[in-house]
Amino acid sequence: MAPGLHVLCRETDCAPCHAPIGSLAWRAARQVASTSTEYVHERMSPHEHFDVVIVGVGPAGLSAALILGRCCRKVLLCDRGTPRSWASKSMHGFIAHDGIPPAEFSNVASKELHRYPCVSFAPVEVTHAKPEKRGFAVTAGDSTVHTRKLLIATGLVDDLPQIEGFKALFGSSVFQCPYCDGWEYRNRPVAVYGQRHRGFEMARALTAWSRDIVLCTDGPAYMTADQRHQLAANDIQVSERRIRCLQHDGTRLSHIVFDDGTRLSREAIFFDLPSHAQSCLAAQLGCTFTHEGGVLCNKHEATNVPGVYVAGNIIRNVQLSIVAAAEGATAAFGINLALTREDFEGRIGDRSAMTRSASH
Ligand SMILES: Cc1cc2nc3c(=O)[nH]c(=O)nc-3n(C[C@H](O)[C@H](O)[C@H](O)COP(=O)(O)OP(=O)(O)OC[C@H]3O[C@@H](n4cnc5c(N)ncnc54)[C@H](O)[C@@H]3O)c2cc1C
Repeated sequence: MAPGLHVLCRETDCAPCHAPIGSLAWRAARQVASTSTEYVHERMSPHEHFDVVIVGVGPAGLSAALILGRCCRKVLLCDRGTPRSWASKSMHGFIAHDGIPPAEFSNVASKELHRYPCVSFAPVEVTHAKPEKRGFAVTAGDSTVHTRKLLIATGLVDDLPQIEGFKALFGSSVFQCPYCDGWEYRNRPVAVYGQRHRGFEMARALTAWSRDIVLCTDGPAYMTADQRHQLAANDIQVSERRIRCLQHDGTRLSHIVFDDGTRLSREAIFFDLPSHAQSCLAAQLGCTFTHEGGVLCNKHEATNVPGVYVAGNIIRNVQLSIVAAAEGATAAFGINLALTREDFEGRIGDRSAMTRSASH
C-alpha cells in the first residue's frame, strides 16, 4: 500500500466514512483504512503540511475545526474513536440540541465540516508530537505530518469501579454528572457512589435535584463528624456497606445489593470518581498542569508551550459539551489570530529584505 496518511472521503453517500465517530460502522471503516483503500478515497502525501492539527474530535475539536475551516485554514482532524461520552444515550444541556444522541451530534457536525474542503479527517491515533523549526512534527497513525499549530482536545476518560453492573448501566442509570442527567431523576430515589470529600460533594450537589439521596461509600466513608452532621441535616443517609452488585433489567437499575445480602431500591446512581487524561501529548510536550490535573492555559486556551493550545475536558474546567465546544472555538480564534499575525509580519519582513537587497 502506498505511504501517506489516509483520510476519510467527502462522498456524501459513503456511509462508513460518514458514520458517527466511534460508532461500529466508523470503527470498521477505520480498521479497513489501515489495510486497504476501500472506504478511504483520499490519501495525503507523506509529510503533508497543515496550518493546524487538531487531536480529538469531540465537541471541542469539532467546534475548533469549524471556526478554523471558516478562516480558510488547512486543518487535519485526527481521532482514534474513544469519546468520553461512549456510554451516553443523549446529550443534555447543549442549547438547540438538548437531548440529542452524541452520535447524531457528531454526525451533524461532520456534515457541516464537509462544506469546508480545507478540513480533512483521519481516523488515526496521534502518538507523538515534537517541536520543530516552524511548528510540530506529529505522528498520526503510520505517518508524520507537519503543522504550524497544535490543538490538543483529547479529553478525559472515567475510571469506573469494578462492581458488577456498574459498567453495563453507565450512561443509562449510572452517571457521572447531575448537570447532564439529573433532570431525568428529579425527585426520584437516587444514590451517590463516592468516598471522602468527593462523595460528600456529589451528595450535596444532588440535593438540587432530589431529596431522596443515599450516599453509598462501599466501605469506610472517611468523613469528618462535621460532614456527617451536614449530610444528616439534609436527610442524606450514609451507607458504608460493601456493594456486591447492581440489580437491573439491562438498562434500568432496580437495587443496589450489598455484601451482607441487604438491598436498597434506587433508580439511579451518580458517582464522583477520578478520571484520567486520554492522551499524554500535553505532558510529552512539556505543558504545565494545574493542581486539579488539567492543562494550565492562558488567553485563548494557549498553553505555556508556544504553538500548543488545548480545549475541552483536558482543561478540567466545567465538563459539559457546550463548554468544551466554546473552548474549542476560543482556541481556534487564538490560533487563527496568531497565524494571521505571523503571516502578516512575515510579509513585512520579506518586503523589507527585498527593498534592502534592491538598494545594494
Ligand atoms: C455517560 C456520560 C454522559 C454525558 N452526558 C453529557 C450531557 O448530557 N451533556 C453534556 O454536556 N456532557 C455530557 N457528558 C460529558 C461530555 O461527554 C464531555 O463534556 C465532552 O465529551 C467533552 O468533549 P471533549 O471534546 O473535551 O472530549 P471527548 O468528547 O472525550 O473527545 C476527545 C476525543 O479525543 C480522541 N483522542 C484521545 N486521545 C487521542 C489520541 N492520542 N489520538 C487521536 N485521538 C485521540 C478520542 O477518541 C475522543 O473522540 C457526558 C459524559 C458521559 C461519560
